[in-house]
Amino acid sequence: STSVAVTGLVRRYGRHTALDHVSLGLTKGVTGLLGPNGAGKTTLLRILATAMSPDQGSIDLLGIDPLTARGRLEARRALGYLPQHPGFHPGFTAFEFIDYVGILRRITDRRQRHDEARRVLAAVGLSDVRGKKIKALSGGMRQRVALAAAIVGDPQFLILDEPTVGLDPKQRLRFRELIAELGEGRVVLLSTHQTEDVGALCQHVVVLAGGTVRFDGSPADLSAHA
Ligand code: ADP
Ligand code: ADP
Repeated sequence: STSVAVTGLVRRYGRHTALDHVSLGLTKGVTGLLGPNGAGKTTLLRILATAMSPDQGSIDLLGIDPLTARGRLEARRALGYLPQHPGFHPGFTAFEFIDYVGILRRITDRRQRHDEARRVLAAVGLSDVRGKKIKALSGGMRQRVALAAAIVGDPQFLILDEPTVGLDPKQRLRFRELIAELGEGRVVLLSTHQTEDVGALCQHVVVLAGGTVRFDGSPADLSAHA
């Protein structure tokens, strides 16, 4: 199955309901997730990335149920997650970091893992700096390292939390191209504040506000709706 569906997701933090019966379906291509601060976007992405559990609801992630212990491990191999504040060991080189991600993703064969590290670093345009320490890279390059980390093992579902934040316009354009390429044949969910991102690369848009889905449709319908 190459689709992801969530049904009736509820997540509370104490008495605050961050997600209030959220249902949506994602197919191949790039879906933009929009909404004001506090809408519940990061909570939804964390749940999909299996970094957090919902209080209620069900998820079909490429045919996997990530809310079971066994399904969670399977889901982690099937998805890639670029969190809002990616953490990496700044003393690692880009190559060493991506190799380490390959170990975490259980690519046990060393040669295969190194080939994969070279492949993903080339895919994000970092071949030339793979031997440089991450702390010596620019913000845009670091963000590309984080994207490379998310695509190790070629996951078919990519969860990208504000990947273009803090990038200059030129880097943002480059990032959009990368994400558009990744959306060909994969399910990509992209949370963003940049409305230009949506027009430029999304086939589908979901707007969250106050923990509920306020819009679910095409970018053209969203413009008409606004
Ligand atoms: P968004 O990513 O759209 O800004 P979040 O999912 O981060 O939204 O947050 C949704 C709501 O849940 C917000 O009101 C936020 O303050 C609250 N929230 C998020 N994380 C926590 C937490 N760990 N504890 C308490 N409240 C939280
Ligand atoms: P393999 O066992 O897959 O041949 P190697 O460790 O011999 O892997 O490395 C192959 C290539 O991968 C090197 O020539 C280099 O370009 C790149 N590489 C390996 N380790 C690093 C590293 N720490 N930093 C940057 N590039 C590396």
